[in-house]
Amino acid sequence: MTLINFTPGPSQLYPTVEGHTLQAFREKIPSLAHRSKTFEAIYRGADEKLRALLGIPSHFHIFFAGSASEIFERSIQNLVEQHSFHLVNGAFSKRYFEIAQLLCKQPVKMEVEEGQGFRQVVIPEGAELVAITNNETSTGVRTSVELIADARKQSPALISVDAVSSLPYPVFDFRQLDSLFFSVQKAFGMPAGLGVWIVNDRCLEKAAELESKKVCTGSYHSLSSFRKHEINFQTPETPNVLGIYLLDKVAGDFLLKGVDVMRRETEYKADLLYQALARHGKIKAFIKEKDFQSQTVIVADCGEETEALSSYLQSHGLQPGSGYGKFKRQQLRFANFPAHSIKSFELLSEKIMKF
Ligand SMILES: *Cc1c(COP(=O)(O)O)cnc(C)c1O
Repeated sequence: MTLINFTPGPSQLYPTVEGHTLQAFREKIPSLAHRSKTFEAIYRGADEKLRALLGIPSHFHIFFAGSASEIFERSIQNLVEQHSFHLVNGAFSKRYFEIAQLLCKQPVKMEVEEGQGFRQVVIPEGAELVAITNNETSTGVRTSVELIADARKQSPALISVDAVSSLPYPVFDFRQLDSLFFSVQKAFGMPAGLGVWIVNDRCLEKAAELESKKVCTGSYHSLSSFRKHEINFQTPETPNVLGIYLLDKVAGDFLLKGVDVMRRETEYKADLLYQALARHGKIKAFIKEKDFQSQTVIVADCGEETEALSSYLQSHGLQPGSGYGKFKRQQLRFANFPAHSIKSFELLSEKIMKF
């Protein structure tokens, strides 16, 4: 029996990905010259579809990196001389902070316990960049777009939003942020190996300012290098051409389905599972406060039943994701991405209620 993969990442492949991949091989995309007009058309196609899908304005640029972790690093290198400020509430937001430390910056964090979210934030004076994790994948806590807007009001700092495990679900107001990124093996349902970085001209200006001060912004994936090539829909290095091709196709499929329909389905599926967890005697939602409950990664506290529930679900074709880090033995995580059909969520909720 093939299992439906509810792990947040790599997650269930979007159903059209296999067919697009076969077609890519027929078109010899994996050996396509990346300096060709054909590649430029693929980059342009992906760029246009992502703009349509996510409402990205024209003064933002779309660059391709190897992963979201790489974008953690590149955004610190290019947007921070000394001080970044991080909202930390789990493993991924913490990683962004640690990468700033490893790059010898002096980051500051506001930290709350795992499972907690942020209602209010005070941005410290002198912060050059505010790092916000829209969906903390390790705990299933979301940070609202209202909080992002509040950070914007308070401070002239650049705002960088990690939306790796939430896009394309959230609706961002691009006036309230400067840098936004995701990688494709989560909600886009694609094979890993591609990070997408969306930045505005303020970011390019900041990187240029750092370069004029002789601050090191990196080499081939500095913002200036990205931009120099992107003007012609080119990339500095030989990129993941197959990944960009698949992103163009999958974004096209999302547009055909309609992003509003996808968002409504996401909410419907999340409701189903949260309701099942609310009714169950032993298995409970880890995140109790509705405002903090992620719609795209739902974490269940299962205590001593963790292994038994996991086996039970697997016997019905449903592969849950394990709890993250120290929660491995007591929690299960369920990704709610476009690749997870309404039917699969009905089955999942039904089986959890029966367990
Ligand atoms: C998975 C994840 C990352 C890291 O993504 P990679 O593509 O593996 O580097 C970063 N942030 C969040 C919120 C994630 O879920």
